[in-house]
Amino acid sequence: MTGNKIKVGFYSLTGCAGDFLNILNMEDKLLEVFKLLDVVEFALASSKVVHEKVDVAFIEGSVTTQKDLEVLKKIRENCNVLVALGNCAVWGGVQAELTGLDAKDLMKSVYNTTENYYSFLGEHKAVSEVVKVDYELPGCPIEVEEFLELLIDVIRGVIPEFKDYPVCVECKIREIPCLIVERGEACLGPITVGGCKARCPYYNAPCIGCRGPVKEEANVAGELSMLLEKGWKKQEVINRLRLFAARYKDIAKLLER
Ligand code: SF4
Ligand code: SF4
Repeated sequence: MTGNKIKVGFYSLTGCAGDFLNILNMEDKLLEVFKLLDVVEFALASSKVVHEKVDVAFIEGSVTTQKDLEVLKKIRENCNVLVALGNCAVWGGVQAELTGLDAKDLMKSVYNTTENYYSFLGEHKAVSEVVKVDYELPGCPIEVEEFLELLIDVIRGVIPEFKDYPVCVECKIREIPCLIVERGEACLGPITVGGCKARCPYYNAPCIGCRGPVKEEANVAGELSMLLEKGWKKQEVINRLRLFAARYKDIAKLLER
């Protein structure tokens, strides 16, 4: 704490920085909220790196390189509360689809070299697979309203609550006709954690699962068999499932090479 302000840091591992961009984009609220914080480090907003101890560390990105691994362990040592923000930090991100492929082959196909310049680990892990995580806020990117609620709880010292129901519940609340039932679409709403107010079905597009699965509860086998019954091919469904949740245990099993 600095005076009555809590000390926070925002740290990036491997990802597109979309979560922090979303936070910086809340221009109308940003200054008001940040008046309550002592922000010692904020990847994307500033290149300042201080390695200071903080009350709360917010982390985005997956653990993909040796540097990610080392930085993350240091952050964990230096913070009281660690919060993983966004799909990469919570589930490994879209890059986790590549788990199991050889780093050298990937370097060759993208950079035309077999040198492992970035010290890829060959895996794209969620933060919780490496260190203890106190809270996880999913999304690709995160919803800023959810982030603000979380931040206010953390400032007040209240334990935050997180969504534990699927997108389908939000569809029902908004009275959106079901895209699986009505049109046979490969919607991942039944296994994806809510919080986006069923944004995609609201605009007539199936959910592609960007918030990741409902932790420990997503019924992947049920989703797969329902979509097979609707005429989808197994590989088509697997390709959709793996996009944002390749490391979810039941999806990882389907992907075993
Ligand atoms: S459209 Fe998708 S998210 Fe909405 S109820 Fe149907 S399956 Fe669930
Ligand atoms: S409906 Fe699905 S894909 Fe669309 S924003 Fe929500 S979780 Fe993401």
